[in-house]
Parts: sequence; C-alpha cells; structure tokens
Amino acid sequence: MYLYADIIVDISHESVDKPFTYRIPEELIGKLETGMSVLVPFGRGNTLRRGYVIGFRESISFEESRVKEIAGSAPEDAAASAVLVRLAGWIKAQYGSTMIAALKTVLPAKQKKRSLEKKEICRLLSEEETEALAKQCRAKHKTAMARLLDALRAQERLPMELAREKLHISPATIAALEKQGALSVEKKRVYRNPIEGSVLLANRKNAFGGLRPDLSAAQQRIVDSVLQDYDAGVRKTYLIHGITGSGKTEVYMNLIEGCLSRGRQAIVLIPEIALTYQTVVRFSRRFGERVSILHSGLSAGEKYDQCERAKNGDIDVIIGPRSALFTPFSSVGLIIIDEEHEPSYKSETMPKYHARETAIYLASLHKASVVLGSATPSLESYYRAKRGEYGLFELKERLTGNVLPKVYPVDLRRELREGNRSIFSRRLQELIADRLEKGEQVMLFLNRRGMAGFVSCRSCGHVMKCPHCSVSLSEHRNGKLVCHYCGYEERAVKVCPSCGSPYILGFKAGTEAVEEKLHQMYPGARVLRMDGDTTKRKDSYEKILSAFADREADILLGTQMIVKGHDFPAVTLVGILAADMSLFAGDYRAAERTFQLLTQAAGRAGRGDMPGEVVIQTYQPEHYSIVHAASQDYEGFYGEEILYREIGAYPPAAHMLAVLVAAKEEEVAKNTAAALAALARGEAADGKLTVLGPGSASLSKLSDSYRFVFYVKSADGKRLSDVRDSMERFIESLQNRSEQVQFDVDPISGY
Ligand code: ADP
Ligand code: ZN
Ligand code: ZN
Repeated sequence: MYLYADIIVDISHESVDKPFTYRIPEELIGKLETGMSVLVPFGRGNTLRRGYVIGFRESISFEESRVKEIAGSAPEDAAASAVLVRLAGWIKAQYGSTMIAALKTVLPAKQKKRSLEKKEICRLLSEEETEALAKQCRAKHKTAMARLLDALRAQERLPMELAREKLHISPATIAALEKQGALSVEKKRVYRNPIEGSVLLANRKNAFGGLRPDLSAAQQRIVDSVLQDYDAGVRKTYLIHGITGSGKTEVYMNLIEGCLSRGRQAIVLIPEIALTYQTVVRFSRRFGERVSILHSGLSAGEKYDQCERAKNGDIDVIIGPRSALFTPFSSVGLIIIDEEHEPSYKSETMPKYHARETAIYLASLHKASVVLGSATPSLESYYRAKRGEYGLFELKERLTGNVLPKVYPVDLRRELREGNRSIFSRRLQELIADRLEKGEQVMLFLNRRGMAGFVSCRSCGHVMKCPHCSVSLSEHRNGKLVCHYCGYEERAVKVCPSCGSPYILGFKAGTEAVEEKLHQMYPGARVLRMDGDTTKRKDSYEKILSAFADREADILLGTQMIVKGHDFPAVTLVGILAADMSLFAGDYRAAERTFQLLTQAAGRAGRGDMPGEVVIQTYQPEHYSIVHAASQDYEGFYGEEILYREIGAYPPAAHMLAVLVAAKEEEVAKNTAAALAALARGEAADGKLTVLGPGSASLSKLSDSYRFVFYVKSADGKRLSDVRDSMERFIESLQNRSEQVQFDVDPISGY
C-alpha cells in the first residue's frame, strides 16, 4: 500500500529531478496515478499549489511530522503542460521507464540563451500630422528627419534595423523626433524563426496559397470524410495508403486548413531525413508564418522559441520528427504522421516510445484526429485498418501523370552458374553503360541492413536459419551461428546443407568496394558515394544530394540513406545490388523492411518525364517480399507477411517485449537475464505467455558492457505489462546492482 507520493510543483524540465514527498490523505489512498495533478501546501506560507504525482512510496526515511499532506485532487487542468504530464504518465506505463525519464522526454528544456529583443520605431502622430511635420522638416533641409517621417507615415511601426541600415537614419535624428513627441522607440520580444528568411521572403512575394491544385475526386473524398467525422464529433485514426506522388501531402495540407479554421492546431510528423528544404517551402507557402519546424539541428534557443510561439498561439502548425509531438499546443485538432512505417518513429533511447502509438494517445487527450500516410504502411497500421480500427483510404494514381518503373528481378545464383562473379549482374552492367552513354543518371543502392552477417549459399541461395524461430542465424566472431531471439547456437558450416556447395559464407560487401569496381568498369563515370563515412559532417547529406541533383555526377551509390528525400528527374535507372541483405537481418521485421526498402528504392526511378527501369539483384528471387516489391503489390505482400506473423505470434498478431540486460561483468548480465527470464516463465503457466531466450545479443558487447536479451510474447498486451511490472519490482529489490535493464515493447529492430 502506498502511503506517500512524490510530487513536483512547478512542472518544468529542470524541476523534474526535484520532487517532494507528501503524505496521501486517506480518501485518496489507492486513487492516485502517476501524472495526476493534486493541490499541495508549499513553502513557508503553505500556500496551495498545483503539483503532479510522479511516483509513490510505501515508507519514508525521515520524521513523519516533517511530511506535509496532499490537500486534495486539483481541478481539471487543460494547460499544455498538464496534458504533457499525463502523456508522460502514459509513456511510463506503456513502455516501462521512470516517470522522470518520461517527463524529460515530453517537457521542453529551458532555454540556455536569453530571449532576443528588437527595437521598433512607433509613430505617435496621425498620418496627416506626420505628413505635415515631414513637410516642415524638408523646408528646413532636415532631410533625414523627413525621410524617416515619410517611412513612418506609410508604416506605423518600423524595425530599428531598417531605419538605420536602409534609410541611413542616425540615432540623433531618432532621438530628436522622439523628443518632439513624433515617435517612440519600443522593445519587442522576437522569436528565432528556424525557417530561413529566404523562404519566408519568397513566399510573401508569391502570396500564400498561390499554388493550390484542385483536389482529385479521391483526394477530396478523404478530406471530406475526415472533416465530416470531425464535425460529427467522431475522432479516429485514419490510414492513407497511397503511392509516392499520389497527392498525400496535398491532402494533409487541406486537412490542416480544415483544422485551423476550426480553431485548433496541427502537428505534422515526418521522418527526420525527409525534413528537406522543399517540404518546408511547401508548407510555409501554404500556411505562412503560422507554421514552424522543430528538429535536432536547431539550436537550444531556436527550439525553446518554437515552444514559446506555440504556447503563445503565434503558430499553429508544427512540422518535425517524433519529438515535435511534444510541442506545447493548447488544443491540438489533428496529428499527421507521414511515412508512418518509418522505423525512426520509434525512440532508440529510454523510454522507447513509438511516435504513432504516442500520437494516438495524445490525440485522445486533445480529442484530435490522427492521419497516417504511407506508400508501404507498417503491418501494424494496415492490420488495424483492415480490422476496422482505423479508417482506410487508398490513393492509387500518380497525379503528375508519369508511370511506375519497369522492374527486372535478377537471380544472382544463375549469374554465378553462368560464370559471372561480379557484384553487377549482366543486365545491370548493360543498363548502366546505356545510361552513361545517353547522359542519364543512375542510382545504385546497397542494402546494408542486416550486416550482422547472415550466412547464405551463393550457389543455391540457402540461408542458415534458427530451427525454432524462423529468423536467420548470425555469424559471430567465434565462428558460431547464433539466433538472436532464443539463443540457439550451432557451429558454422563448411558446405551448404542444401546443395553441398562450398560457396556458403557470411555476406559482406561495402560501398567503398563497390565504388572501386565502378571505377574499374566505367572509367569515365562520375560517382558520388553516400554512406555513414561520407555523411559524418552535418550538411554533407544535403550537399551530396544537391550535387547529384545538379548533375555533377552520373551515378549515386549509397546505403538506405539515398532511398528517401529528393526527387531526381534525370534518374532513369535504379540498381539494387543485394536485395536479400535486409531479408536476413535476424528479426521478424526483416521481410517488411525489405519490401519497404525495395519498393521505395524502385520508386526513385522515372520520376521525371522519362520512364524508369529498376534491377533488383537477389539470391532469393522467389521470396515473397521481393516478388511483391517487383510488382509493386502491397496487398500481396501484406497477405503473406501477416500469415507469418500470425503463425509465429509476432506483432501485430501478438505483442512482444524485449528485455535487454547489460553489465560490465559478463556473469552479472547473464545471471540477471536468466533470473528475469525465469521469473517471466514462472508467470507463463497458463500458456498465455511465451518466453524466448535469454541469449547473447547480436551486439553482444557495447562500450565494454556485455549484453543479453530475451523476449516475452503474448496475445494479451496487459499480460506483458504485468510481467514487466514484476520484473521492475525484482530489479528494484536487487542490492548494489550494477546491471542495466531496458524494456522494449514491440521492438522494431533486433538486439
Ligand atoms: P505524396 O505526398 O503522396 O508524395 P504530393 O502531395 O507531394 O504526393 O503530390 C505529388 C505531386 O502531385 C506534387 O507535385 C503535387 O503538387 C501534385 N499534386 C498533388 N495533388 C494534385 C492535384 N489534385 N492536382 C494536380 N497536381 C497535384
Ligand atoms: Zn547451397
Ligand atoms: Zn531461435
């Protein structure tokens, strides 16, 4: 029984580390939850203040007489911060983290820089009076004064900068007119605007909303249904399944307009990498200075100012990656998540929240609608849409009129059989040569996801798999093949168990090696390489892409980074060098990720007027993710993949909890993981929980810590969070513990 609660008064990012303990009055015992707000006596005068519950205690380590008692529950609070505290409470309960970590995630950090101020010159006289005064000045040859007065006549408030630098007015002139009572100088708080001045200026000239196509019937239907629901008081999550270029963004913008005209604010989430100059221009052209952006590239001052602008009601649309969810708007009406399938929507640090799930909960607090969009929806979202939990819309045509590219799957086993050992198939070689000759551009995509090293046979394509989990085994440095779900191990094989070929080995190929080959085969070709090495500097990503857009190179070679972002109209050939790589990443989402990557990579070809071609090189041309990506058939892929998830009890057919235990001493990590797994097994007697592992993680050692992982699966999400609670209590009870335990609900990558 909890008799005490930890409360923070003055909710802010900085104060969450300083909770105060209060006694819970009898009538509230058992009724409080983390995130709730209460009234507490505070300070010497014991004035009642609003505080937030962030945790509970059974006992205290100091004198009972020194503890104050909670005065009662606080009236409903609609302030942005109160909503965010409740959201933090939900994140804590949902994903397993401390309340403090959850609060730090949702509350904006205090500004480290002081606020900016600007001086403005304000006219105090009427237009006529000002004009008369200007005339007098001119008569007395006080031309500077006259110039300033003329400017003020036309514009009541003039930025000081403009007066000084453009009109060349001296401080003495301004002071003289101020003395005469013609004007005053005022200070105005200004906010840093992360949208570049050049964008704003260009847009002002263009007049907002200038570029506004008439919606197609399919687009209009989506806008109408969502807004009709909204006006009828129905708030739902909708999924727009629409190929790239089918006009989703145009739909989002119309929905946002609908939302703003109903007096509410909108949040637009996009994957960080997609937050390009073009996106910003497009939204800012439609919504002017009511829109802003938030992303990790902004300075602390810029971030803080955007939160202030949101609180003050100066902006009502925010665009950004997942953390933009926590913009302190007072009344959100719409949350849009573009490219909703992107793994970057899941936080990689504790709390490992998923922006989609979190957005849906946040929307319930604000009574807002949620719109998800993707060309390749996540299995989760499509599954829920099919079951009627989400509204489903399809956009099937490109509005720009160009056609989808032609796709050729190439069987690399056959290439080997027929004597071609190069990384490039014969078809790809021919097509590259053809494009170089015609002066058209080529993109080569090396799928490097899954570099953990699955082992496959170059002759027959056989892949070494775990007999228990149907995911591929990974080759470890000690020569063993390991399953990262259940810990199953076997010795590395020398010949293929399926065909006897000795060409069975771990898959390795880097972009650098491919670049070298390109130079050998096509000596005149200009190649740009984009990977982790060439994009270490902050702006190098944009630089490489714009160089390619400016046709400074013939071939862009890269990892998944090149799949998204810019449109390159001159690209008429896309080569996918090793489509299989991601298929054997050793986690249950491997096929989904492969399908998404291939579909998107293929979508890069033929964006302009010229039709495109795509070569998909693979050892598994018959694998359903490759077959359906080649025919751009999402439904077909979904149908097969969902069966696999149902049979294997993987999300979305069931829930999965990953438990990662890390410690400097291998024994400690291993034993704690074993103890926690045993605890979970102890609760699995009714057969509604399955525990896999523990085993060594695929990243088995990270910054000198040994890592062990195990998984708990259940169709019932509540059972999983109950087990997690028991594990949390067990961890709290450990003395002098040195290990770290992380929970990951419905993980999206392997460990
Ligand atoms: P998506 O977000 O699905 O990739 P966009 O909204 O960016 O699609 O639209 C793709 C292209 O089609 C853009 O150039 C956009 O201006 C144009 N477009 C969108 N809707 C229409 C429309 N109703 N009529 C004409 N062009 C449109
Ligand atoms: Zn073989
Ligand atoms: Zn296994």
